[in-house]
Amino acid sequence: MNRIVIVSNRVGPLTDTGRAGGLAVALVDVLRERGGLWFGWSGEVSEQGTYGALKFTEEGTVSTATIDVAQVDYDEFYAGFANRALWPTLHYRLDLTDFDRRLEEGYRRVNERFAARLVPLLRPDDIIWVQDYHFFLLGEMLRAAGVKNPIGFFLHIPFPVPEVLTALPNHKKIVHAMLSYDLIGFQTTNHLAAFERYLFEEVGGSREDDGAIAAMDRRVHAAAFPIGIDAEAFSKFPESKEGGENLALVRAELDDRKQIVGVDRIDYSKGLPERFTAFERLLELYPEHKGEVSLLQIAPPSRSEVRAYSQIQRLLEGLSGRINGRFSDLDWTPIHFITRSFPRRSLAGIYRGSAVGLVTPLRDGMNLVAKEYIAAQDPENPGVLVLSRFAGAAEEMSEAVIVNPYSIDEMAEALRTAIQMPLEERKERFEILNDKVMTNTATTWAHAFLDRLLEIHEPPEDIERQAF
Ligand code: UDP
Repeated sequence: MNRIVIVSNRVGPLTDTGRAGGLAVALVDVLRERGGLWFGWSGEVSEQGTYGALKFTEEGTVSTATIDVAQVDYDEFYAGFANRALWPTLHYRLDLTDFDRRLEEGYRRVNERFAARLVPLLRPDDIIWVQDYHFFLLGEMLRAAGVKNPIGFFLHIPFPVPEVLTALPNHKKIVHAMLSYDLIGFQTTNHLAAFERYLFEEVGGSREDDGAIAAMDRRVHAAAFPIGIDAEAFSKFPESKEGGENLALVRAELDDRKQIVGVDRIDYSKGLPERFTAFERLLELYPEHKGEVSLLQIAPPSRSEVRAYSQIQRLLEGLSGRINGRFSDLDWTPIHFITRSFPRRSLAGIYRGSAVGLVTPLRDGMNLVAKEYIAAQDPENPGVLVLSRFAGAAEEMSEAVIVNPYSIDEMAEALRTAIQMPLEERKERFEILNDKVMTNTATTWAHAFLDRLLEIHEPPEDIERQAF
């Protein structure tokens, strides 16, 4: 069996599924099945950066190899082009972009350095699978170095419509580089359609007989592979020690009252201010919920070195303070805003103790919290998922209460519907959603992608060597 080589910005961990995300768990599973190497950034910034020694770990047939980056790489690549140009553009937030050429060059340089450090580790029959928006250019650089292995790429975040993508000054270079991959996976058919439309309309691409698209002197296969979670394991987390303790705490605190829960990294794509305001609107419109329903928002800060992120955290602190000041009573606080992270086992207990899971991003590749909330429910008394139509998850999870996260009134009404939903309807919706979450897991996702990659790979014959 061919060895798998996974490339992603952050690597691992190889153990402890309660702490690792569902994606890490699925990737470790496929690495274990076939044996493999996981390559990426060590998480460290050092003087030698990408020129420093590789760090290896090994566990049975799976090893990890990581490299540091230099401060300038971190600033220009990670905190720069990846998170100040690509992330906002791909999440439709052109107002927050910073298209500095220096950052673009830093991004290219780090992709090139990662390719150069990976090449000596590769074996001729490896299958290479590159993850996410940090590495749009990596495949092209591997090809230019003569790598002929199958190389797949999966984009975990949205791919925007061409009208938005073309605001990115180097959109053509990025898409051209993407065409060096054999297979590109997207989270939804919607993102796939946007990519295809770019190729057809922007650069005159055409569909070939085998389903590939030819464009800009290259050809690529592209398909939607919606990612899932480690559903079976996650559904047992509420009964784990950590999950059970958190469930008991939530129940003791709530007494007979109901809790709405939101769990998101602090990020402007998650629609958090709109969510707080919608909860406030619920209390204004339906005062009978005062003292009866509260909102627990768990929101660990992320990327706080990027200004837009620290700004949104301050905005949320202000909003929750204002709403609490306005509605709190001696024995009830409407919004419980916690800005630290919880292990996934604990989250599972919190999800089970919450009558409503509120997942309202303005834009999201998939949103795994939506799937985790469902997997954690008690089938005899399940809670209700309120889900943004702009989360990738909405394409599969149409039995959730689907909302427009830009409409505060619609979200307030959806919360009311969810809180009051009778048991029978909750069970009906839950059963369908849970079936999907249990069937399309992180592991089936990884298998579907890799099977397809092996099916379509043709060894490139004449690769243009490029200096980079
Ligand atoms: N998560 C966590 N602890 C927290 C908050 C989130 O472990 O305190 C996990 C959550 O369980 C989920 C992931 O982080 O697996 C978030 O994934 P999602 O797709 O919802 O959003 P992303 O952060 O990738 O944009």
